[in-house]
Amino acid sequence: MGMSEQKTTAGQGVVIDGKAVAKKLRQSIAHHVEVLVGDHKIMPGLAVVLVGDDPASQIYVANKEKMAVAAGLRSYVHRLPKNTSQDALLELLRKLNKDKKVHGILVQMPLPKQIDTATVLRVIDPAKDVDGLHIENAGRLASGLPGLVPCTPLGCLTLLRGIVPNMSGLHAVVVGRSNLVGKPMAQLLLRENCTVTIAHSRTPQLPHITRQADILVVAVGKPQLVKADWVKPGAIVLDVGINRDGGRIVGDVDFDDVRGVAGYITPVPGGVGPMTIACLLGNTVAACCRQNELTVPELR
Ligand code: NDP
Repeated sequence: MGMSEQKTTAGQGVVIDGKAVAKKLRQSIAHHVEVLVGDHKIMPGLAVVLVGDDPASQIYVANKEKMAVAAGLRSYVHRLPKNTSQDALLELLRKLNKDKKVHGILVQMPLPKQIDTATVLRVIDPAKDVDGLHIENAGRLASGLPGLVPCTPLGCLTLLRGIVPNMSGLHAVVVGRSNLVGKPMAQLLLRENCTVTIAHSRTPQLPHITRQADILVVAVGKPQLVKADWVKPGAIVLDVGINRDGGRIVGDVDFDDVRGVAGYITPVPGGVGPMTIACLLGNTVAACCRQNELTVPELR
């Protein structure tokens, strides 16, 4: 099965240990970085741009920097004041596009009001767009062409592959249709030959639909929305949600309730979250290889 997991008592789903899978993936990435440095004298570089002082964003950026450095990558963090103009940000991105030491560029979201997110995403060189949010990369994914895929759905796919190497014919239900998570997740599952249903806020009888899922991915942003009677017995449930509930962080799935019926389930925290950062590092290494016309390693 190749996946680190916690076996539990009868009637309780297996808890998918995203932290352990992410650690293994980061080790594999670190190994490939060593090869790039040792054999090719190339040091993969990731530039992260943070505009403003949103506390959650600051934590995310600090984590990305720490993990990048730990995997042997070079990290360039650009912290800009919250009143930064759109032109100033675009100018920095154009400079990073040209910088040969930078192979991946990520702009931390959300951006302050004076900056138009869509414009910013269009300016990043698609070859360096390690968040996979440029329309060229979205189009590549939709057309079945190689490109950079958003990190969270890529992390979910990696977790799924560890459980079911062959997903062909399974019914996957994705709840949420954002460009960041839901839509690319659905595309990836389609590529795995799943039958894919995408649900969202206008979907009537949502529990009826989610109950049909062999694979259920929930990316909504509503604390503990999904209950046990929304889930088919034995289903694989991936919970992407990160919601602050008082001092606690909870997912979009009622973990204690759903665990009694699911076959496999990700916890929050410690499930999908750690996979997102690991996949960001993986995307940076892949982008670096492509930019240097080297074979992109299979990272797992
Ligand atoms: P968005 O707010 O962009 O999208 C949420 C989606 O959920 C929308 O498509 C919306 O539908 C749908 N939705 C909202 N309410 C309901 C409902 N009651 N029933 C069904 N569908 C609903 O969020 P993101 O996709 O960016 O993120 C989703 C969650 O994942 C958030 O909690 C976020 O914090 C978390 N996240 C976690 C990451 C990680 O690393 N683990 C990374 C990225 C996000 P509609 O389109 O109709 O409005």
